[in-house]
Amino acid sequence: MKKLLTGNEAVARGAYEAGVHVAAAYPGTPSTEILENIAKYKEIYSEWTPNEKVAVEVAVGASMAGARSLSAMKHVGMNVAADPMFTYAYLGVNGGCVIVTADDPGMHSSQNEQDNRYYARHAKMPLIEPSDSQEAKDFTMEAYEISEKYDVPVLFRLTTRVCHSKSLVELGERKNVEIKPYSRNIPKFVATPARARVHHIELEEKLKKLEEYANNTFLNKEEWNTEEIGIITSGISYQYAKEVFGDKASYLKLGFTYPLPKKMIKEFSSKVKKLYVIEENEPFLETEIKAMGINVIGKEKIPITLELNPDIIREALLGEKSKIVEQNKEKVVSRPPTLCSGCPHRGLFYELGKKKDVVITGDIGCYTLGSAEPLNAMDSVVCMGAGVSAAHGFIKAFEQAGTKKKVFGVVGDSTFFHSGITGLIDIVYNKSNATIIILDNRITAMTGHQENPGTGYTLMGEKAEIIDIEAICKAVGIKHIRTINPNNLKEVKDSINEAMELTEPSVIITKWPCALKKFTEIDMQQFELKPQKYYVDSDKCKKCKMCLNIGCPSISFDEKIGSIIDQDTCVGCSVCAQVCPFDAIKKVGE
Ligand code: SF4
Ligand code: SF4
Repeated sequence: MKKLLTGNEAVARGAYEAGVHVAAAYPGTPSTEILENIAKYKEIYSEWTPNEKVAVEVAVGASMAGARSLSAMKHVGMNVAADPMFTYAYLGVNGGCVIVTADDPGMHSSQNEQDNRYYARHAKMPLIEPSDSQEAKDFTMEAYEISEKYDVPVLFRLTTRVCHSKSLVELGERKNVEIKPYSRNIPKFVATPARARVHHIELEEKLKKLEEYANNTFLNKEEWNTEEIGIITSGISYQYAKEVFGDKASYLKLGFTYPLPKKMIKEFSSKVKKLYVIEENEPFLETEIKAMGINVIGKEKIPITLELNPDIIREALLGEKSKIVEQNKEKVVSRPPTLCSGCPHRGLFYELGKKKDVVITGDIGCYTLGSAEPLNAMDSVVCMGAGVSAAHGFIKAFEQAGTKKKVFGVVGDSTFFHSGITGLIDIVYNKSNATIIILDNRITAMTGHQENPGTGYTLMGEKAEIIDIEAICKAVGIKHIRTINPNNLKEVKDSINEAMELTEPSVIITKWPCALKKFTEIDMQQFELKPQKYYVDSDKCKKCKMCLNIGCPSISFDEKIGSIIDQDTCVGCSVCAQVCPFDAIKKVGE
């Protein structure tokens, strides 16, 4: 049977058919749906972990125990997971182990566009790159065969367009793969320096065998049309290249890209007059091919930054501009991303942004938008967890410079569990007076509402222990903790003012469910969640525009009428009503 699947759904299906037993991930676009779809297969135990390092360690443990395991993450997640990954490449597997990286060229929802193919070379792991959903499924299954045959975990690299685009996939049956027997094997699984030296030598031998495999596998194939132009490509770039050149070029399509099939590349290159390497972002293939002494055209013509598409390749290599539909630019209104109507982070950033002589270190999540106009409440955003640790760094530098400035760090609930806790321990242990604001909207909101250790549910939908953020903060030694309703501006203001005076570290927890959240039984018990809307009484509106300063997308302004609240999108958080100095914003029905 054939089914239309995204690349992420196809990887999940491939894991199912390959007989995977355990899967673990931390959600992150564009990888999130892999685990969400694996969770639908009851034969696979699946879980959201607090971060990617834990996810890989769970997969490693399951693999050592003899189970086929999978861990998935977005590209920046691999930076967090790199520690166990590098060492597990040395040790080798028991049950097959596949680590999926979903890279984000063009940074649709990421802070950088690192090309994780380099991780394969750096960690010395075989690398697989599918170009469509059928390959995503088939190659996932082959990845387990490679992992077990060559005794090494496999890195499986997708990019956004493969993850999220759909194509037909032939479905198969689940293989009945038994969990291999586990027996203690200290020389194999205990990475002491003496043993690691041996493992490294063994791994180099495995890589030689994997290169032989690369030259013979169905993952790498030639497509012959002409000897005039040859194209070496992989992943989604293959689809773009085919769209531009069609049968006017021959292709060496690589699905297994580390170690490279050098023999195959030499043979293909020797048969064509002009050779292009078409790949997105970094010259990963090109550098190695050039090092083999082969003359190719690549990054001198094809951009190294942002996503590729057929138009870019056509212009770069053929000098042909595609016809584009002209649009009336005057009619196109630019709409920067903004916090949603009724977002519980708005009240916090509105009050925090009013404090002018403070530093606010931000973090990765919806709340990164607190840095945008009109809230302007953020000085830095680096990576998950840095909202906490960077606050400490600011304070230590300010202490040395004699600068007196209050520092606030913001971090979301899921991000606090991911990597905020360690930063908070550092703040207490190394004595900063930072105030960390944990924006607890009761869900992992930005990636699409995944459960986390604070929500009370698991990925598989079971009820779970709620890990209490306040208790963690207490346990690491924070004495000043206030949990507040961020929609109540007085509470927000008071807690910020109180924190400004403290000479020791403190935590403010803003606790209110995300405005888009499907409320759970637990939410209904904990919060007064009643449907309500607000409107502007235009007779009272003085057109002062104060309400626009909160940046709620439900509020628009008309010079003749004054402010207007869109009744379809207002969720009744009441923040605008608290801001209006003329009492012109009222609750519908009152
Ligand atoms: S803050 Fe009140 S008075 Fe001022 S524009 Fe908004 S609704 Fe009108
Ligand atoms: S009550 Fe005001 S701030 Fe809240 S969602 Fe409605 S319009 Fe926006």
